[in-house]
Amino acid sequence: MSDSKPTPNYWWATFANKCPRCRRGPMFSNNNPYRSLKADMILEMPEKCPVCQQKYDLEPGFWYGTGYVSYALAFAMSVTTFVAWYVLLGMSIDDSRVFWWLGINSVLLVVLQPWLMRFSRVVYLRLFVHFDKEYENHQPKEFD
Ligand SMILES: [Zn+2]
Repeated sequence: MSDSKPTPNYWWATFANKCPRCRRGPMFSNNNPYRSLKADMILEMPEKCPVCQQKYDLEPGFWYGTGYVSYALAFAMSVTTFVAWYVLLGMSIDDSRVFWWLGINSVLLVVLQPWLMRFSRVVYLRLFVHFDKEYENHQPKEFD
């Protein structure tokens, strides 16, 4: 196969919520996670990748595991904001700085929730489905 088509970048494909197999097809039915704040709208996905036909929902209950991913992501984000806060503003038990961090971090987690819910699915599917440069010539991955 020729190399005429450029390989979509790993990080770009991840943050743009693209299919892990071809890195081209969108994983969600509409691009904006904030268009509607109903969970089933946020997580509305086509059954298969429109580009490479990779099935997204690999088995019944497949997305159950994303709970752990979003938990880990939320935790990592909290650690990041804590460290940033500590370095930039400092922490002290003598004033309310730690509570300001708690409050702002909580608001941030709530505001980012729709995006996190989607991102968790992207990351989770990536654990099972790997990039295939020649996706046109291979069968999509199936669970059996
Ligand atoms: Zn695909």
